[in-house]
Amino acid sequence: MIDCTVVGGGPAGLNATLVLGRARRNVVLVDSDEARNKITDASHGFITRDGVKPAEFRAIAHQEFSQYPTIQTLKDKVVEITKEKNGFLVKTEMKKQWATRKVILATGVKEKFPNIPNLRDFYGTSIFNCPYCDGWEVRDQPLALFGIIDYTLHTAKILRNWSQNLVIFTNGEELTKSQAKEIQKNELRVETSPIRLLIGKEGKLQKIELENGNIIERVGGFVTPELVQASELGTRLGIKLNDTGGHHSDEVGKTKIHGLFVAGEASNVYPAQLIIAAASGAEAAMAVNVELTHEGILGSDK
Ligand SMILES: Cc1cc2nc3c(=O)[nH]c(=O)nc-3n(C[C@H](O)[C@H](O)[C@H](O)COP(=O)(O)OP(=O)(O)OC[C@H]3O[C@@H](n4cnc5c(N)ncnc54)[C@H](O)[C@@H]3O)c2cc1C
Repeated sequence: MIDCTVVGGGPAGLNATLVLGRARRNVVLVDSDEARNKITDASHGFITRDGVKPAEFRAIAHQEFSQYPTIQTLKDKVVEITKEKNGFLVKTEMKKQWATRKVILATGVKEKFPNIPNLRDFYGTSIFNCPYCDGWEVRDQPLALFGIIDYTLHTAKILRNWSQNLVIFTNGEELTKSQAKEIQKNELRVETSPIRLLIGKEGKLQKIELENGNIIERVGGFVTPELVQASELGTRLGIKLNDTGGHHSDEVGKTKIHGLFVAGEASNVYPAQLIIAAASGAEAAMAVNVELTHEGILGSDK
């Protein structure tokens, strides 16, 4: 019987695993290595790790695990979690299964992009989704903004501190009266024609070709995709989603199912930041340790 299974090895799952290993808990971290930030060259804003490659961030974490004997890691995908009397039964894609007292779901989110041709060719290299993550890198540059118009307007206002040279592309969507008013008030430039093609080289945006024939030079931009849960494991166990799209839980990630916790973007989709996900993983791990202690379960390396 494993003390805790952590599903997902992004910052939330990694930090949860570290805290549990240091608490002498028998912990298995299962990760399918499909994190959405894999496509970016550098992550920013995590103190002591500013500019780190996502793969390097994970590699450092795994190196740190090696000194804690109760941590096991597995590159695999959890396909089923069944509630049992004293915990859960976990099954993976590679046909492994084990019993576990607690589970932390740290499975993250995935993006649903607006229907813009070849946007993915530039996502993570010159088109980003969070000014706090990549605004500094494109400061004072001519930028494009795409996505759900209300969110884009919000991003545009914040982004002006990084660059004043902004164009909002609605990709054929008409503005509502209030959106048009907001745009006028904030003196923002808008292009409403549908987008024919994004043009650039090796992930670096250069121009945007519109259906009306106009070509607009832009070197990068921001998109506001819809963020949805990457895994259905939580909802299949009966956990409903909250208003942000995360799984319902208390402030430390405890769900209504005894022994099931959520962390990172599986818990709160916003703000989407590595350091916030990592902190939430640490909180969930401490809550797991407290629950195990109250149940009279001692650390497994004793
Ligand atoms: C392009 C881009 C750039 C970004 N840049 C920054 C930045 O500079 N700074 C910053 O702070 N934030 C940045 N972010 C946001 C940051 O990546 C996320 O906020 C953070 O990774 C969320 O952490 P998480 O642990 O909740 O989920 P994730 O990091 O998404 O990790 C979830 C993990 O769970 C695994 N998983 C899912 N389902 C299963 C399953 N069934 N079984 C096993 N494993 C599973 C996935 O493979 C994945 O590895 C960026 C995001 C993107 C998309």
